[in-house]
Amino acid sequence: MSTRATNTPTTRPTIQAEIHTHSTESDGQLSPDELAALAERTGVRLWALTDHDTCGGCVEARAAARKRGIHFINGIEISAQAAGRSVHVLGYDFDHDHRAIRAYAERMEGARDARMRAMVDRVQSLGFDITFDEILTHSERGNLGRPHLARAMHARGYVPTVQEAFDRYLGTDGPAYVGMDWISVDDAIDLIHDAGGLVVLAHPGRYDLDPHIARWVDRGLDGLEIRHPSHDLVIEQRLLAIADRYDLLKTASSDFHGAPAPELDDAFGRVNFPPAWLDAFMARLNVEL
Ligand code: AMP
Ligand code: MN
Ligand code: MN
Ligand code: MN
Repeated sequence: MSTRATNTPTTRPTIQAEIHTHSTESDGQLSPDELAALAERTGVRLWALTDHDTCGGCVEARAAARKRGIHFINGIEISAQAAGRSVHVLGYDFDHDHRAIRAYAERMEGARDARMRAMVDRVQSLGFDITFDEILTHSERGNLGRPHLARAMHARGYVPTVQEAFDRYLGTDGPAYVGMDWISVDDAIDLIHDAGGLVVLAHPGRYDLDPHIARWVDRGLDGLEIRHPSHDLVIEQRLLAIADRYDLLKTASSDFHGAPAPELDDAFGRVNFPPAWLDAFMARLNVEL
């Protein structure tokens, strides 16, 4: 009789998933089609596009993914607020054509233009020669955000790196920062649910808002993004405890924004999304791979 151990692992091979990504539809640097090609190249089998305040790239992304045998999920990253702070809320698998979603995206696109004009005024008064039209050349499809302004400042040589534009001028405490009238987290939860989707709080480690989570759970919050490049292990453990306490879904992502530098492709799909978390997420979405 064999003395071999019988505890042979029975888990299936890991499914590579990347469910928090940005394209040229907002502040990412690759088009939805280029992202789909990257997903194929990196072995990602489950992909969601989560542009800021829009699902405008979702139809193109779905078609590009289908062509490559990749499962695509509609996504959005809503810019919301709570307690006077900006809070990002991820929506998954909702109807991208839902009236309230379309109206929200349209309103935000206009609000982002107006806010960018105000930020351009600020950088001009700081002595930088940057115009609104110049910002547009750094955005392919609109939905203007601070990264477009940061890239314009960098292209002009005003800052040595894009990051430094944030550190010195565009961070929330920076002299060129302008906020917006974001919707509340509660309204963001309702918006996504009304369109038939799931709601996951994006990178919650960035906020000091744990006490609010119980209320958002009552409102219907479905999950927490536990693993994110901005979280360390201490934050992960803290969030895990909260997710377990409220029986929430757990997700992991790279929050990929793309980059022309090929070595940065490495981030895409490389975050460790533990199979148990992914299984629960896919089960809720009725996805089988
Ligand atoms: P906005 O939606 O216009 O306020 O821009 C937010 C985006 O700017 C985020 O989604 C990130 O892509 C980027 N961002 C925000 N804060 C920073 C930061 N401190 N350093 C680098 N990028 C940042
Ligand atoms: Mn972004
Ligand atoms: Mn975010
Ligand atoms: Mn994001």
